[in-house]
Amino acid sequence: MTSLADQIAARVAGLFLKGTGDDRTRRKFRSAHPKKGEWTIVAAVVAVNEETPADLRVLSIGTGMKVMPDAKIKEKSHGRMVHDCHAEILALRAFNGWLIEECKDLSEDNPMLERTDQGISLRREWKFALYVSELPCGDCSMSNVVHDMEQKGEDTTPWTNYDTEGIHSADSRGRGGFSQLGMVRTKPGRPDSPLSLSKSCSDKISVRQFDGGLLNCISSLLVLPEGFHIKYLVVPRAEARRNSDDLHRCFHTRFGEVPTWFRPIEIVSTDVNFPFSRRDGDIVIDKDPSHLSLVYCCHFCDVLVQGVKDGTAKKGSRPVEKRDQSFVSRASLSELVKPVIDARGSYVNTFKNSERKLRKEELQKTLGHWTKTYDDDFAL
Ligand SMILES: [Zn+2]
Repeated sequence: MTSLADQIAARVAGLFLKGTGDDRTRRKFRSAHPKKGEWTIVAAVVAVNEETPADLRVLSIGTGMKVMPDAKIKEKSHGRMVHDCHAEILALRAFNGWLIEECKDLSEDNPMLERTDQGISLRREWKFALYVSELPCGDCSMSNVVHDMEQKGEDTTPWTNYDTEGIHSADSRGRGGFSQLGMVRTKPGRPDSPLSLSKSCSDKISVRQFDGGLLNCISSLLVLPEGFHIKYLVVPRAEARRNSDDLHRCFHTRFGEVPTWFRPIEIVSTDVNFPFSRRDGDIVIDKDPSHLSLVYCCHFCDVLVQGVKDGTAKKGSRPVEKRDQSFVSRASLSELVKPVIDARGSYVNTFKNSERKLRKEELQKTLGHWTKTYDDDFAL
């Protein structure tokens, strides 16, 4: 019998290859496929019905591995750029877009959500998996860093940490100081590329074991949190084996004592290979990274370049226009929720000053060196 992890990986790869939805959406899927000689990462949030094992639903998909430099966001975003276009983060954002849209007009026969006296809740039989076609960047894949350098015949002396203005000297940029384990890292990037303080996917996913899991600051105002956490992280088997200590440390032991609201992620592995991967088991194939990102849920779909819709990125400091933003930008998501929540004033003051945020900050303090990124505030 095919394992759950293999079923999930095969379903996501098939959906990405064939596309879904109307003709326009299918065209977007095709245009987001890596070109010949390119690779990408795909991630997806998949709902698993634990009472009906064959019932899996791919709720959101994200692809890509780009991140916007902080300076660009400050200059032109005003809530309209997607800061972090790594596949996992896009899939999580798209999941929240899906959830907000579902809540707006919730019917009684919705298969996953139901209205109760306390509010909208997840039907008990549903659990969630996050599938990623390559291990998330950062602490959970540190053995990959050395492995990949050895494969390419590169010098495996760790890069030193970067004492760049605005970063704590102990912060590790990307794979800098890769012999130091368990620490918060920023997104990988060449040491000469523009700076992003955006945290690695390892860090962003692992703290979601504490703070409402899949929900973001907007969707957490719409639904009851119970059940909305990542139960399974589905990753390729060869990588899970090579990085097994890293995965255990990153998601579990580095937090020390955990509170009762900790929802541990279970790592499960698959033998199904994603056709656009740069890896084949232990072999790393020499390909260029695709610069495109797809972000999809059944209500919306965008192809992104430089944090905005493909073909709309402007040179210089011209601000991003409303029509150029993706449905997963913070300005779009807060617009989506307006018919349900009376949101006015500043985005940060409305959505970010919650108990949830305080809990998250407490956790970030525990991990240390969680340098704050630019607020990117705007008027709702
Ligand atoms: Zn990442």
